[in-house]
Amino acid sequence: MKSYAAPLEDMAFLLCEHLRIPDRTGPGGYVADAETIGSVLAEAARFVEEEIAPLNATGDREGCRFHDGEVTTPPGFRQAFGRLRALGWPLLTVPAKLGGQAMPRALGMAFNEMIASASMAFGMFPGLTRGVADMIAAYGDEELQRQYLPKLLSCECTGTICMTEAQAGSDLSLVRTLAVPAQDGSYLIRGDKIFISGGDHDLTDNIVHLVLARTPDAPAGSKGLSLFIVPKFLPQAGDEIGVRNPVHTTGIETKMGNHASPTCALRFEDARGFLLGPVHGAMGCLFAMLNKTRIGSGLQGCAVSEAAYQTALSYARERRQGRPLGPNSPNGDSGTVAIISHPDVKRTLAEIRSFVEGGRALCYRAAVLLDTAAHHSEAGDRKRAERLLAIMTPVIKAFLTEAGFNCAVMAQQVLGGHGYIVGNMVEQYVRDARLGMLYEGANGIQGLDLAMRKIRMDEGRALAAFLAEAANELETSNSDEWLGPLARVLDLARACSDGILKAEPDQVAMVAGDYLRLLGFLAMGTAWAAMGRTARAHQDEGSAFHADKLATCRFFICQVLPGAEAPAARIMAGLGVSFAVPCQPGKSAEGSEL
Ligand SMILES: Cc1cc2nc3c(=O)[nH]c(=O)nc-3n(C[C@H](O)[C@H](O)[C@H](O)COP(=O)(O)OP(=O)(O)OC[C@H]3O[C@@H](n4cnc5c(N)ncnc54)[C@H](O)[C@@H]3O)c2cc1C
Repeated sequence: MKSYAAPLEDMAFLLCEHLRIPDRTGPGGYVADAETIGSVLAEAARFVEEEIAPLNATGDREGCRFHDGEVTTPPGFRQAFGRLRALGWPLLTVPAKLGGQAMPRALGMAFNEMIASASMAFGMFPGLTRGVADMIAAYGDEELQRQYLPKLLSCECTGTICMTEAQAGSDLSLVRTLAVPAQDGSYLIRGDKIFISGGDHDLTDNIVHLVLARTPDAPAGSKGLSLFIVPKFLPQAGDEIGVRNPVHTTGIETKMGNHASPTCALRFEDARGFLLGPVHGAMGCLFAMLNKTRIGSGLQGCAVSEAAYQTALSYARERRQGRPLGPNSPNGDSGTVAIISHPDVKRTLAEIRSFVEGGRALCYRAAVLLDTAAHHSEAGDRKRAERLLAIMTPVIKAFLTEAGFNCAVMAQQVLGGHGYIVGNMVEQYVRDARLGMLYEGANGIQGLDLAMRKIRMDEGRALAAFLAEAANELETSNSDEWLGPLARVLDLARACSDGILKAEPDQVAMVAGDYLRLLGFLAMGTAWAAMGRTARAHQDEGSAFHADKLATCRFFICQVLPGAEAPAARIMAGLGVSFAVPCQPGKSAEGSEL
């Protein structure tokens, strides 16, 4: 039995019927018709199900190995990465002028989702690589683009983002790595980075590190940071692999999950680097890339929950325990039912499914907005997309990674004690999904970004555009009396936003995580209402898929969306009082001051 089957019907529904990708003209004038989308999805599913998914459990079990300064990936990973490259998948959404297939980003999102469902760890290699390529395309001069871009875009080499240091995690202003100018215009990079995903491996010959560092004359803080391209092997003329740059892997982390993605400590010992973008302008350059990778993290949450849902669903159909409720329920050995017929199990599965499909809708919509912001001919449309993305990015990142973890835990619950046993996949999904909440900017930081910065952006126009989406959806779907919970969540979001905009920074920071959750519920509720409309428009076709979609929509709106009441209540209570948090400085076990 397959461990993962791509949800092709739902993906095609979203791309073709709901987001109407075939009616849109994308970057470079592409038009992806429904037939093309269908065949790309089917080919992608075949590749991912047959060649990536079978590696997930062994990748987790075997993990990456570190020996003599070199990292090896688990068995099968090198071959699968070679196949990914040979089949041209990394080029799917690359612009035609760079040798790509120029397909819409939303279709790329579907492919990335399949990969992350099949193996989150495997998906991190091409995902980060595309992030680095996009940065070089945006900020590299002609020479840097010529040297690095084609190989990164095709995954002939991979990329890493090297920001974190032992003393600089969420607070990158503390980065100490030095970049000393050399006479030939390059820089000598000196310092230690930790937690670098894909920092070393055996999938490709070369690795291109994007390193955050400061020049000797740089001002303190994040305004003194610059970005440098530091290849593992320096390029040389022709196709020959160049001279080894002194970037040394000093170890890999032993982690809770994602064992097949090496998390490396790297030492740069006067490694040669090349400035990317303006000196001291790193944070501005990184901003656009981090937005995309954060949407990618949200997608990982959704992708891992899809895989966990599939495992839980097939288990619930097979496992027989208990009897139907009611006075005529049989006794003894006979009359047991599959656990899927128990209302609580059914409800759990429906909740996971409603989060997965709602999350998928949010991520694919974000992809459409990214294309619109980058390429639309009308300045007004570009601006509106940018504003919506400003709010949606931290929401997608944190709400969907939290939901992804919770869904994996719910799926584990469906398997009962068997869900705790290694080999049933769900315990791996729980461990893998946990990472999304911690990296790419911990979720707490996303809440702060939203509540302290994003909702004030553009004199509040970004927030206004986001709230207007929900209001417009309610107006358009006004025949649906069961949308009451969505109207209620919109009211709560308005009231809490007003309160937050007037509150003191300390109070805002205290409720920021709950504010993000509240807007997450609102965004997903709006996405579900919109999908419900699309499903209803196709209901006449009498398809079971559309009827099912409407049922899941109603379930989310009526059973899940009221979960927004709790964060809203905490926000309103939190804004009114100043908390004495019961963890004031005290004494450690050794007696020193904490
Ligand atoms: C498996 C893995 C892969 C990674 N891959 C990469 C990579 O490829 N490249 C890279 O550069 N980094 C990578 N990271 C690092 C990751 O991005 C950081 O771990 C993350 O940014 C958080 O930093 P930290 O761990 O130092 O936590 P800290 O910054 O110490 O934060 C600890 C806690 O305090 C909270 N906190 C911190 N500051 C504030 C504040 N001002 N206000 C409120 N709360 C705050 C945080 O939300 C968090 O909950 C990876 C990490 C892991 C675990």
